[in-house]
Amino acid sequence: MNKLANKCFSKTLCILAILLQNACSEPARKPSLTEAQATTTSIPTSFTLSKDRLPNAAADGDNWLTYGRTYSEQRYSPLTQINTDNANELGLAWYYDIPVQRGMEATSLVVDGRMYTTSGWSKVYAMDAATGRELWTYDPQVPHEKGAHACCDVINRGVAAWGDKIYVGTIDGRLIALNASSGKPVWDVQTTDTSQPYTISGAPRAVKGKILIGNSGAEYGVRGYISAYDAETGEQIWRFYTVPGNPANGFESDTMKAAADTWTGEWWKYGGGGTVWNAMAYDPDLDLLYFGVGNGSPWDRNVRSPQGGDNLFLSSIVAVRPDSGEYVWHYQTTPGDSWDYTATQDIILMDLEIDGKTRKVLTQAPKNGFFYVIDRATGELISANNYVPVSWATHVDLQTGRPVETANARYENENELQFPSPFGGHNWHPMAYSPDTGLVYIPAQEASFVYNRDPNFKYSPGFWNLSVSFEPSALPEDPEELKKILPLIKGRLLAWDPVKQEEAFHIEHPGPWNGGILATAGNLIFQGTPGGEFRAYRADNGEQLWKYLAQTGVVAGPITYRVNGEQYVSVAVGWGTIFGLSIHTGQQPRSRILTFKLGGKKSLPPVKVAAVDFPEPPPMAGDPEQVARGKTLFFTRCFMCHGDGAVSGGVLPDLRRIAPEKHAIWKSIVVDGAFAKLGMPKFQGTLSEADAEDIRQYVIKRAHETRPESIRQQ
Ligand code: CA
Repeated sequence: MNKLANKCFSKTLCILAILLQNACSEPARKPSLTEAQATTTSIPTSFTLSKDRLPNAAADGDNWLTYGRTYSEQRYSPLTQINTDNANELGLAWYYDIPVQRGMEATSLVVDGRMYTTSGWSKVYAMDAATGRELWTYDPQVPHEKGAHACCDVINRGVAAWGDKIYVGTIDGRLIALNASSGKPVWDVQTTDTSQPYTISGAPRAVKGKILIGNSGAEYGVRGYISAYDAETGEQIWRFYTVPGNPANGFESDTMKAAADTWTGEWWKYGGGGTVWNAMAYDPDLDLLYFGVGNGSPWDRNVRSPQGGDNLFLSSIVAVRPDSGEYVWHYQTTPGDSWDYTATQDIILMDLEIDGKTRKVLTQAPKNGFFYVIDRATGELISANNYVPVSWATHVDLQTGRPVETANARYENENELQFPSPFGGHNWHPMAYSPDTGLVYIPAQEASFVYNRDPNFKYSPGFWNLSVSFEPSALPEDPEELKKILPLIKGRLLAWDPVKQEEAFHIEHPGPWNGGILATAGNLIFQGTPGGEFRAYRADNGEQLWKYLAQTGVVAGPITYRVNGEQYVSVAVGWGTIFGLSIHTGQQPRSRILTFKLGGKKSLPPVKVAAVDFPEPPPMAGDPEQVARGKTLFFTRCFMCHGDGAVSGGVLPDLRRIAPEKHAIWKSIVVDGAFAKLGMPKFQGTLSEADAEDIRQYVIKRAHETRPESIRQQ
């Protein structure tokens, strides 16, 4: 503990102090191995990922070479050493403590016995995949002020590998190439306009000597795109914008000119959205790169494109040539998106026998609740059916390829309670496909949301600009009402038959936000839960065979690989992410990589539960109108980090419990940016001093009404 941490007088301040310590001076890095030491291990000191390896990765069970294991992104491994007969003999082989206590969403890569993974703040870690021994770490030194532009925690979903390098995208919008042996940066390019609220959370992909990367920021107001960079030099090769810019500036391509015909009004003033923040896949035979495009910005089309229009390429799957970025086809899942129904959920390529013919298809279960099977050569919609309850559309018309919307789906007349919610029927948690069972395994979820036109919406550059308020969807403050609502928010592992477009079976979980899925030829599927279990099931019928208590929420996609003939299963664990920040579940971060093998004997250190301070809050001074105004502002600016109803998810400070000293400087923290270096946004320009005080009065009220119960919970 440094001097600052020694001054802690509450847990909240301790967390702040530790964050500050990280922000100001990174803790001393463990000494890296010298080359001489590295050569004494059984793993190679370097690798070269030749251009043939990625296209042929399906048969290479030893490695996990790209985010979805192969270009098809099936997350299916041919390994069978761990199977239904012995899965209950799995034990911990090793663990690696990640020093950043923020959400863990990364899918690790394994290349020739080395594992590469990432954590919050875009940090990269390399380790011996058989032992967990650290080889090197890399910190891109992201300024923590940039955390203010990360809609959904400062997470990172992993790296790409190509040649002798590892590639990571950073929260501050850079793409960095690292020497895979040493972890030393080779090149570092800014992929975004740093004056705009762009971030990168997604994993890059490597195709034909190019590194592909998109970005995030559609909740703030940016114009989405995907770019390709030369893997050797970092030189930009092409960029494909997903939404048109201001026509007065001319269009980058005929494709953008055509897309502009589907927009109305002055959308470019709001950025338009359409960020490419997650899904990509590649078909080497067709030489087509596929990527998923995100939601509109702001959410309500009525604001950004008031006379309607499909708003291409929002919520679309787009196919382009990887060498040039040339447009080939697109399929729009949600025309004129008004619901945050991104099509950025992972894309899986597979060959299916449909009506007696083998079809090369692309599948996706985007947020909007429909499962799509699309001809990946042409973009033709083959079939679509809802995989979770859907109320915004009755079905997808196969003749037109368009959803048939229900009355008031666009909440134009009044607020409309609808399924799915902006959390999606499925979010970024990767699904998997097993060619053995013919099933797609989806981390599916079921929650409603009250869509509404925010009467207070005013475009605020650099801040959240949804035009839809979360307040009508807030969890009930009354504990009895809360008990009734929570069971209605559901999550399940859904085994889906993509040919019949129907459920094969499902495993119901206690709630949503369950982990990504791995399928293996051992007739197994693996999945973590936000409740802190990592589980193995039979892939053919869902029978649970094994579980491990991970001491923290498990939401990332697991991997499997083999070193020296021994099969391992590994998963990044740690609480956080947008759900972990905003919803209180009792989980703590405890970020780690956990790796299992048959007969593994390692155990985790016991959890030390620290006492949590909940100081007496200041007296309630606000009148009901002030508290109500504060609540509305809280659900516009604060809840996504500090929790629904001001109850922290357990990662960032719980405002109900802050010390009197923090109340005294509330305005300078909220409005003037006193803690900007910790990642606490400076709200000057969108919140006045009076607004900040209204929010404080709401927090004080919540502190008073929840204090005894919160103490009991600890
Ligand atoms: Ca979004």
